[in-house]
Amino acid sequence: MKWWISLQAELGNFQQRRTIYIFALKMSFIAVILSVAIILVMLPVLRWLGLLPLPILDAIRLSILFAWFIGGIVSGALALLAGYAIHKLAVSRAEFERLSRTDMLSGLLNRRAFTEALDEAQSDASLVIFDVDRFKTINDRYGHASGDAVIVAVSQIFSSIFEGRDVIARLGGEEFGAIVHGHDMAERVARIEGVKALIADQAIAVEGGAVKITISAGVADIWSERKKEVVYAAADKALYLAKALGRNRVVHESEWLNHVWHRSPVEEDPETAPYLAEQHRYGHGI
Ligand code: GH3
Ligand code: MG
Ligand code: MG
Repeated sequence: MKWWISLQAELGNFQQRRTIYIFALKMSFIAVILSVAIILVMLPVLRWLGLLPLPILDAIRLSILFAWFIGGIVSGALALLAGYAIHKLAVSRAEFERLSRTDMLSGLLNRRAFTEALDEAQSDASLVIFDVDRFKTINDRYGHASGDAVIVAVSQIFSSIFEGRDVIARLGGEEFGAIVHGHDMAERVARIEGVKALIADQAIAVEGGAVKITISAGVADIWSERKKEVVYAAADKALYLAKALGRNRVVHESEWLNHVWHRSPVEEDPETAPYLAEQHRYGHGI
């Protein structure tokens, strides 16, 4: 296992050309030292068998000279070739990894990379699920290519706003996930409201004109003891409420709980009971 980890690390380094030269130098040095050691063991044996045609000291001197010149150059050249092959492999592996975490249309992270980022997210952050409102009508009215142009434009706005510790990804279709950091929930929701307003203000160029779109967002808070599936489900439910309340809205999970509270006795509602119990347990009550 240790060997495998160090090999992976070496392969990672092989993305830099400098590593190939160091590798070739190291290999030729090892080859020379090994061949000198073997020669030093063999020469006395050859002498003892009477097969050495010149004095032992001259033989040692010549052997070391040849080991450095010929052995060093040949093994160095071979190691250089092997180094280039590993370099190519390391570069294509890194590219493959980058592609496997990237959404091809938007250039943002994909769902897989987002799930990993969410698993690592700590407190002072919220999960946001964004969804473009009435996106199907854009496809229907202007065509699929225009729908794609809208996804790209929205992605560019998101990535210009969510930087640093924040994470933004395309989860699929016209749905995006973000991990937004901020001092407290109010600050984070205010940032998300800002993004929502910014997108509503922009005219996006599509084939045959420009469109204005709106987005809805569901927000749920992340804290260390809280399971990420619960956070995700809470943000999803908040998004559902944002849609149901008319779209172009940001809904925090507490608003969703509040909403259901007034609809039916919460403790008896199978949808809300687990969330309420959790909110009480961790002191994030509404
Ligand atoms: P809502 O406000 O409820 O979210 O309505 P909506 O029309 O946005 O939602 P719906 O889920 O009905 O429509 C999403 C559409 O997005 C359906 C699908 O054809 C389209 N879609 C999914 N992926 C892509 C894509 O990569 N490109 C384009 N152009 N359209 C896509
Ligand atoms: Mg939609
Ligand atoms: Mg959708």
